[in-house]
Amino acid sequence: MKISILTLFPDMFTGVFQQSILKNAQEKNLVEYELVNYREYTKDRHNRVDDYPYGGGGGMVLTPQPVFDAVEAVKQQGSDAKPPKVILLCPQGERYTQKKAEELAKEEHLILICGHYEGYDERIREHVVTEEISIGDYVLTGGEIGAMVIADSVTRLLPGALGNETSAVTDSYSTGLLEHPHYTRPADYEGMKVPDVLLSGHHERIDRWRREQSLKRTYERRPELLENMDLTKEDTEFIKKLKETDENS
Ligand code: SAM
Repeated sequence: MKISILTLFPDMFTGVFQQSILKNAQEKNLVEYELVNYREYTKDRHNRVDDYPYGGGGGMVLTPQPVFDAVEAVKQQGSDAKPPKVILLCPQGERYTQKKAEELAKEEHLILICGHYEGYDERIREHVVTEEISIGDYVLTGGEIGAMVIADSVTRLLPGALGNETSAVTDSYSTGLLEHPHYTRPADYEGMKVPDVLLSGHHERIDRWRREQSLKRTYERRPELLENMDLTKEDTEFIKKLKETDENS
């Protein structure tokens, strides 16, 4: 997979892409990150990429030319069999989720456009991008942190990126539920004990305990996630009991 990031601040990515799983994924040739400074594509004689908004008002707006040309150049240099997804980082976009990360991880090439200042000329949104993504209901200074969020969450889903493949499968949201708690050695830390079932060596009981903890956590913290889930009869019974306990307390 290739992830091209169009930004005015490529240096912001240096630390993030050169550590841990993202670094290993590049070394294993699972992913290539391309940083493109769209200032290099401006035809403005003062090297500017932004301008005042028509109609007045505060803030600067990114002009269309450098972004149109940078996206075109990135597309031309690629040898994509499938057209790349061109994603605009934007607080007004579709809210980013694990499901979206899973969808993007199946693509061959992503082009992420990071805005800055007040925003973009609307023609970029209308004619260059295939989708808009927001990483949450708040406003950041620029799209770079959002692009890092997408690059990270997508890369860890690429087959072979994580040491233990199963860890991505059971992660929160991947199963539709929040993940169960984890414990490690020692079994007794200053009187705080690991649940007996985890030390039992009984895999079926451990799996059931984990499933129930996952259901309990989701019920307590994100109950709306349970609404669209296909639950087994056993799961439904367990949630019924949780509700009864709640009502009686
Ligand atoms: N004036 C814009 C608005 O109200 O929608 C906000 C512009 S923001 C200061 C500058 C840039 O940061 C945006 O163009 C976008 O690239 C990025 N950005 C800000 N918040 C974001 C979010 N929640 N998700 C993704 N990108 C965001």
